[in-house]
Amino acid sequence: MKGPRSSSLPGISDESLLSFSSWLENNKSLGIDPQDHYHSVLHGIAGSPGVAIGRVYLHTNADIWVAARSIDEADIDREIARFRIAVDAVIAEREGLIQRTRETIGHRQAQIFESHVMLLQDEELIGKTIRRIRNERRNADYCFYIALQEAIDIIDRVATDPFFKERASDLEDVRASVLHQLAGDSPDDPERDLVSETVVVAHGLTPSDTARMPSDKVIGFITDTGGPTSHASILARSMGIPAIVGCARASSTIAPGQTVIVDGYSGHIYIDPDEVLREQVRRWRERLAERTRILEDLATVPAETVDGHRVSLELNIELPDEITRMSKFPTDGVGLFRTEFLFLARDDWPDEDEQYEVYTRLAKAFVERPVTIRTMDVGGDKLSRRLHVEPEDNPFLGWRAIRISLAQPDVFRTQLRAVLRASAHGNVRLMFPLVTSVDELRQAREHVEQAKAELDSRAERYDSEMLVGTMIETPASVMIADELAQDSDFFSIGTNDLVQYTLAIDRNNEHVAALFDTSHPAILRLINRTVIAGHRAGIPVYVCGEMAHEPVAAMLLVGLGIDGLSMAPGGIPELKQLIRQFSLADAQQVAREALEQTTGEDVRKLVRHAFSERGILTP
Ligand code: PEP
Ligand code: MG
Repeated sequence: MKGPRSSSLPGISDESLLSFSSWLENNKSLGIDPQDHYHSVLHGIAGSPGVAIGRVYLHTNADIWVAARSIDEADIDREIARFRIAVDAVIAEREGLIQRTRETIGHRQAQIFESHVMLLQDEELIGKTIRRIRNERRNADYCFYIALQEAIDIIDRVATDPFFKERASDLEDVRASVLHQLAGDSPDDPERDLVSETVVVAHGLTPSDTARMPSDKVIGFITDTGGPTSHASILARSMGIPAIVGCARASSTIAPGQTVIVDGYSGHIYIDPDEVLREQVRRWRERLAERTRILEDLATVPAETVDGHRVSLELNIELPDEITRMSKFPTDGVGLFRTEFLFLARDDWPDEDEQYEVYTRLAKAFVERPVTIRTMDVGGDKLSRRLHVEPEDNPFLGWRAIRISLAQPDVFRTQLRAVLRASAHGNVRLMFPLVTSVDELRQAREHVEQAKAELDSRAERYDSEMLVGTMIETPASVMIADELAQDSDFFSIGTNDLVQYTLAIDRNNEHVAALFDTSHPAILRLINRTVIAGHRAGIPVYVCGEMAHEPVAAMLLVGLGIDGLSMAPGGIPELKQLIRQFSLADAQQVAREALEQTTGEDVRKLVRHAFSERGILTP
């Protein structure tokens, strides 16, 4: 038996530290029943680890931000007038709709909009909003939102008849229209309105929404949609803040201004916690910090198996603002720099110099360590305002990643020149996303050659030996990995997309999130095939999808021969601790057996059994 090398590490497998919720469960014996200390609790999918307490800022389904803002006494009448004007505008708009619907569809259908007008003329509802503006001195958007939410809650609680249930969606519809009107004259703006320690609650967050958020103020996200590999989760992980995704109805249940505890480990959200629960969070954090300090002592030792096999552990970076902070982590380099975040949330493309500045900053910050810059992977859920005028029916099967780059040679070559110029200042590797054919790879490489020629003509410096790698993200690329390897200096497996495209699981869809299984034998066999093809051609094979930080996967990936794992920094110390407890021979044996299993659950059982048999402590 191979004993753990660091069994002296206390607390590493302390079950109560796995999540704040398990800590609370554990503390029941101390007489603290969590139920007595919050208003309500919701459950979602754990998207990014961490625990945060903060005030809610709501980003509505209708793409509007609703903040609870205080207003001055002197501005109350103006705020009420602003509200009345918005309501009148929506009534006028609905009256137009009634007219048109009567003429084109029929009287019965027009009744829907008649009911909207009645709602907006309801003195009770309007009066409630106005009283709240006056008494609480809050902005109209917030007060109207709350008044409607109270009505929706009542319908949800008491209505059994589908007809009455439908009234709730009419209320939501009317609310969205009035909020849009209000936003039109004084839009809520996250940059301006967010106070520190804010938890953003939204139906869904696009990567550009997420990237727009002031990272010094946002301490957590909650979304109705999404799964652990959706980009909102990935961004939250890279920002080091907790996120809960796939929490259906969170955005219609949690109100702006409420206080919530976000447990990004378990997916629990505690709404309106009292002081007892807040104190529990403080205590839990102290214990966690203690454990983190212990793990950080591992910073200076390599990720090496007990028989001396070295695995490189690298970082995934999303936002340019993170470069300096991330470069302080004791890691082997950057396995994935997602450049598309430079391209999102803006109306123009970043020019060559702007990109060059960011890539050079990255290369210099990591000094000798390799940094892998991926060409822009816009598309899918990462929509650029500049590009996507028309929404696509199947964006993940549509215009995305290398397809966009190849279709826009000017944009692509601008990026390639910027990366090449940065390569003169450090150890830069380039990588292409979502390659599905040799033809695409050859075209992309041809653009690299042309970009070099363009720089030569300008007498600009670059690393002529810069490595160029291919991401393996689809079953197609696995099946032609032998051929792709001929034109690649390395492979990097994007398991988020490989799982999505192999198992036909939309990585953003909470309804199928539970089926997103990185231990599925199909996935392990595809990875195995990729490693064999890469090594046969003499090139290294890395993994940079979220699978890389899963403990079960780590042993399998090492056993399958993966040369390096790249992930958000949070997972690195734990993974190092794990890798240092088994031998390569053990991992190879377990991986061989895993390839023969029938289901993902069988694979997980096998690895967990291997952990317990060898006394391996897991994070
Ligand atoms: C992946 O697909 O695993 C990957 C790393 O790329 P992204 O998550 O940016 O699509
Ligand atoms: Mg991908």
